[in-house]
Amino acid sequence: MLHDGPLDLLVRQLSSLPGLGSRSAKRIALHLLTNKEKLMQPLAKNLEYVAGIINPCQSCGNLDEGDICRICRDPKRDRATLCVVASVADLWAIERTNSFRGVYHILGGTLSALDGIGPDDLNIRSLVDNIRNGEITEMILALSATVDGQSTAHYINDQLKGLNITVTRLAHGVPVGGELDYLDDNTISTALKARKQA
Ligand SMILES: [Zn+2]
Repeated sequence: MLHDGPLDLLVRQLSSLPGLGSRSAKRIALHLLTNKEKLMQPLAKNLEYVAGIINPCQSCGNLDEGDICRICRDPKRDRATLCVVASVADLWAIERTNSFRGVYHILGGTLSALDGIGPDDLNIRSLVDNIRNGEITEMILALSATVDGQSTAHYINDQLKGLNITVTRLAHGVPVGGELDYLDDNTISTALKARKQA
């Protein structure tokens, strides 16, 4: 039984993590406590260490050591191609593919009328300033194919009217290995519109 003590607080903290309910939080707390030396203490130390050393990159918003992240520091990255993403998770997803050699700009979310997120809540002004003053020739809007993602892309596109850069978007369509029969109508119709010469 849990009382309103330190263990109860630990379970509450764990259950506030994404994807964890109170049942799994209890299971994790128990697992940590039965593996104190091997797991719980090293984890506690590492949490404190990582919290102290990892910060948002002052240039793109990625999380890394130091003021400027290793992608922005890398002289081999193409600074003329900028990929705009909503979150660090999205940046990591694109990096995982090893297919993009440009640099990033993290918006910190997408516009959402429902959640009350407006342009001033996102890093849009710094993006426009960057493009106005910088060496960027192509901007890729790598935003989700959701209503919010697409209205954010639309808004950014509007802000950049008159500037001399190429704006592209990710192609939306049939996923690799995807069977047509299982796809929703929207995906099929977008894929049809974005069809290419075979
Ligand atoms: Zn960076």
